[in-house]
Amino acid sequence: MMNCLFCKIIRKENPADIIFENAETIIFKDINPKARIHLLITPKKHIPSIKEVEDVDRELLGSLILLARDMAKKENLRGYKLLFNVGQEGGQIIDHVHLHLTGN
Ligand code: AMP
Ligand code: ZN
Repeated sequence: MMNCLFCKIIRKENPADIIFENAETIIFKDINPKARIHLLITPKKHIPSIKEVEDVDRELLGSLILLARDMAKKENLRGYKLLFNVGQEGGQIIDHVHLHLTGN
């Protein structure tokens, strides 16, 4: 957690283009966007990957999808993709759960 890049962004120890924040969640722009809009919807709770989520995280995970929907609407995206990369073999680089929202 101490050295987790996304935890550092959450603690404002590392810079990021933060576009939304509430008590449980932070949303910032991906530094290497794969689409015109590429946001990372990130719970503030340090959970390494979807493999480690627990029943208590049910509501938190649901809220990520609802926030993605709201952000997509705000950006006037008519269609978009939502993606969790899970585990190194699944393409996950940052070991802190985040939902990718991409759209053009
Ligand atoms: P993943 O492969 O699902 O772990 O995705 C990690 C994402 O984080 C990649 O799309 C990176 O471009 C992005 N990323 C890495 N470092 C930063 C950073 N400092 N600020 C914003 N996005 C980042
Ligand atoms: Zn973290």
